[in-house]
Amino acid sequence: MESCTQFCARLHKLAARTGSTPSRDELDSLLSHWKSDLPHGLALGTFQELQSRSCPFCQLALAAITHTVADVKRIATDQPIDVVLFPEETGFRLSFPSRLGTQLLFVASNESQVASPDCARVIDSSHISPGTISRWLHKCHSNHANCVRPAMLSTEDDSPSGGYFREEDTSNFRVLDLEARCIKRVALHARYVTLSYVWGQIPMFQLQRGNVKALETPGGLDLVLSGLPRTVQNAIDLVKSIGERYLWIDALCLVQDDIRDVNIGIELMNSIYQGSYFTLVAATGADSNAGLPGFQDARASGFQIVKELVPGGMRLAVVHSIDWHIEKSIYSSRGWTMQELVLPRRTVIFINNQVYFRCHEANWSEEIWSDKFTSWLDPDDSNISRIPQIDEGRVFSLWVYQKLCEDYSRRILRNDGDALRAVAGISRPLFAGMRTIGIEGLPAYFLDMFLLFVSPESRLRRRPEFASFSWAGWEGKILWPRENYVAYDESGNSFWNPENIAKYFATSRLIEWAVWPRSQRLRKFSRVEPGKQTPLGMLLQQFPLLFPHEQISEESSLISSVELDYSYDPDLLGYDETNIDFPWLDLDRAKTIFPGRGEVKEQETTIEGGNKTRLIRKALQSVNSQAEYNQLVAKFSTTQHSTEIKYLRNWLASRQWKIRKFHQQVESSSQQSIPFSTASTWQKEHYFFREPRHSIHSDENAKMQRDDTRVASIKTYSAQSKLSLPGYTQTSDIPIQFVRYTKSYYNLPPYCILYFQSVVFNLAFGERPTSWATDHPSKADAMPADSHAIDDIPLHSASGTLVGSLHPDHLDFVGSVGEKVQLVVVARCQTLTSKSALWQSSLICDPSGKALGGPWDLLWVMSITWVDGIAERRGIGQVLTQSLADSIEPGPEVKEILLG
Ligand SMILES: [Zn+2]
Ligand SMILES: [Zn+2]
Repeated sequence: MESCTQFCARLHKLAARTGSTPSRDELDSLLSHWKSDLPHGLALGTFQELQSRSCPFCQLALAAITHTVADVKRIATDQPIDVVLFPEETGFRLSFPSRLGTQLLFVASNESQVASPDCARVIDSSHISPGTISRWLHKCHSNHANCVRPAMLSTEDDSPSGGYFREEDTSNFRVLDLEARCIKRVALHARYVTLSYVWGQIPMFQLQRGNVKALETPGGLDLVLSGLPRTVQNAIDLVKSIGERYLWIDALCLVQDDIRDVNIGIELMNSIYQGSYFTLVAATGADSNAGLPGFQDARASGFQIVKELVPGGMRLAVVHSIDWHIEKSIYSSRGWTMQELVLPRRTVIFINNQVYFRCHEANWSEEIWSDKFTSWLDPDDSNISRIPQIDEGRVFSLWVYQKLCEDYSRRILRNDGDALRAVAGISRPLFAGMRTIGIEGLPAYFLDMFLLFVSPESRLRRRPEFASFSWAGWEGKILWPRENYVAYDESGNSFWNPENIAKYFATSRLIEWAVWPRSQRLRKFSRVEPGKQTPLGMLLQQFPLLFPHEQISEESSLISSVELDYSYDPDLLGYDETNIDFPWLDLDRAKTIFPGRGEVKEQETTIEGGNKTRLIRKALQSVNSQAEYNQLVAKFSTTQHSTEIKYLRNWLASRQWKIRKFHQQVESSSQQSIPFSTASTWQKEHYFFREPRHSIHSDENAKMQRDDTRVASIKTYSAQSKLSLPGYTQTSDIPIQFVRYTKSYYNLPPYCILYFQSVVFNLAFGERPTSWATDHPSKADAMPADSHAIDDIPLHSASGTLVGSLHPDHLDFVGSVGEKVQLVVVARCQTLTSKSALWQSSLICDPSGKALGGPWDLLWVMSITWVDGIAERRGIGQVLTQSLADSIEPGPEVKEILLG
């Protein structure tokens, strides 16, 4: 014991005391001796020293480390290990391998010893008790306002005979009725449980057209029960044992050989999971035979590490957060399971031979005493496990979208073609929250930010089914640059805050984006006031010598037969900062979402007048059912509602959604034609589930190719050789030269393409960073488990100056030194990325070689290549704006670009 630390000695002295677990004050005074070292931590010693000690605390610390690190042999013997005490916690953490996710918590032997929610509890039963789960559900249901589904507008629809409308008559939403032992159609606001699990390679019984009838017959489920995988059987037993009647399981509730039924189901995922009473997550194992370990079979041993500090005295336990367990599971490596974990209001998670509970107000588990408290959120639990409500502000949705897509990108999809479908349930509510339409999985009104994703390791593999400008078009981990969240004050001080993104959009946009979906007109969604200079025009104005003076026409020369469609939401965009309406987060919420990110500015927190109407319009686009429609109306119509109600009615009529008034006298004749909305009161308006949008599934490609009207439009393009930027006025004297493509356009890709005009120019590749050669194999299949972001490759101007920095999507896309790289300007930017090659540039540094502070005059650029006349992205970079004046021949040109 004498070889051990002073800290251990003092801790063991404290541990000899019996009774309640130590309070925060006691831990503070225990550590007061070293307080000046906190919160950096108190040195325990090196990993090797820890291995040689027999002291119980050091042994527990060692066990926590070896339990966490996959390959203990790779830990350096001189790795320092510190004990860390976080503010307001009553347990310890270790500095290695991570301060987050793992805690050493004091064990309370019984309820009377519990001093705080972060007290450990020893699990002594061999089986998981359904009673525990019932108690958690009941406690959440009766105490947590944030976990309750929004109230229905009217309870009329709930009564079996009452109301004029029964949603289940029109919906394809089915559940397993565990009482009648069959499949049953219900309304989406019924109380049901959802199951989330990994299918794996197991052949599984599925609901199909041929067996729907048999399974809908009471008792029909009994015929197939024994053939179902173990996880499904366990789930059925568990849900029954806690007294719930309805259970939704994808394989048994969507008709798997009916594309329309499955597509509606995929569109509905957000509603199905968000609306469920709770979601049962089977996160153990590799396939659907893994079951719910600990529920019907006894738990395996060794899932809890507990140590007595002194004989008969206090004990400490190693406790990991639920996220820590999930991150290590096969479950979390699968693309489809992400939304199933994120969308529900409550999840009951089976993992680590235990059961865990997570809702909007609590993290409860068997191994800690937090369920003795009404509400407690584990600080280690992910803050993106909750999808924002539509009225919680655009920035919140934008931020969550970014985090979730980044998470999603590291997951595995068995079919490339599922890349967008497997997150449809998340992207639609988030797009509604951002008040944007979606294009190829990206929020269309925010392309200036979301085209800029990069692969930290430069190992993306192209998915040919999807556009290269979207993350969906690439397999592999992606990140979005956080530099766009930096803003500068007048003295040049920089501030990082997610809300600064509004400033970025106000000051950095250059491009007027238009999207060209199949079989539709080109759709443009940006606005330039008539007679006002375009942002791109303003950029060109900085270089009057580069663009020869020529008269230009107002028409696009590339796509002459297609009209631009300005039917985008005109209130959303505008280059004037004052035109951007972000309903800002309220202060308290902002602090929870973006902790420790400096001051959050006080902004407008309410949604008034016109803003409110626009919000309703976007909210309605995320609605999937009568139940959700009613909830929304209830939410927006509590007070002064006449305007909103009028608006709702107009919206319904304009969208021509199928509205049906189920008056009692017509209820039987469901074959009647369906009238469109002219209903006099909103209470009587009803509609079907939304129709599925066209999916880009490969088996539908052939048909869609025939329907693709874009080919004809491009074929007929006229021989004009000049163009203008729309909104570029004739009074302007800034000339633009247009250089036309020479390739043919007959092979249009199946996905949406973007159309825009921008500056295209060339720079030359510099030397590859030395870090690439050593730790980076050139083939994507050799991805190490914990790889790190690589350095960017330098880009040189015609005169050989270092003027830019490129992050390639794959190392194979990088040419040899001096080879040309074609770049297209995407947006302005002010901050260099951390791995930028520009930190070495003489144009950034002072004479002594020290980099100067921002803001800088930079451009985000995309490196492109041409495939059948369509540009495809190959990387993202930053260049100094001044590099346009020193680019490699033929010099910068304004081009019309189709980006696919
Ligand atoms: Zn020790
Ligand atoms: Zn709750």
